[in-house]
Amino acid sequence: MSAEARPRRPTPTLAAPTPEPVPSPDPTSRPREKKPFLLDFFPLETADQTRLSRFFERLKEGRVSTTRCVQEGVLLWPPRTACPGCHTEDVDWVDLPERGRIYAFSAVLGGAPLGMESDVPFAVGLVDLDGVPLRLFGRIEGRAWTELRIGQSVRLESFDIGDGRWFYRFRADD
Ligand SMILES: [Zn+2]
Repeated sequence: MSAEARPRRPTPTLAAPTPEPVPSPDPTSRPREKKPFLLDFFPLETADQTRLSRFFERLKEGRVSTTRCVQEGVLLWPPRTACPGCHTEDVDWVDLPERGRIYAFSAVLGGAPLGMESDVPFAVGLVDLDGVPLRLFGRIEGRAWTELRIGQSVRLESFDIGDGRWFYRFRADD
């Protein structure tokens, strides 16, 4: 067996990266600044960005809605372009009930998503909508989290998040 030495590869040399100066964040400008794409809590909403743009268009009209499989009559949540059960793309849009009851909730006391840091503390929870077999997750506004209770009635509403986009949330108002 030959003990021939392999030719040595030249060792690559890496130039030390020059550290970029990191600007100190201005807390007052945080809610309005554009979020890095992957850290933006709210989804892309326009027709050239998502096939579910009607969901967001309807939010702007004050309607929180979802899709229903026309073949099976099943409500889908979140809204989908095709039914995960029978795979049809024959889905239509239906408005969701305006009220529901808190199934579970928790408080965000720290580590809030980008843009929500100044909202802390706030409540998030699961809400069973009245009359339909859907349990939605979302923020619960209107009351301090310490005043919320399991089973409490809440209203489902749409709202402008402040940059032209809309989303949904719950409001404890009774
Ligand atoms: Zn189906």
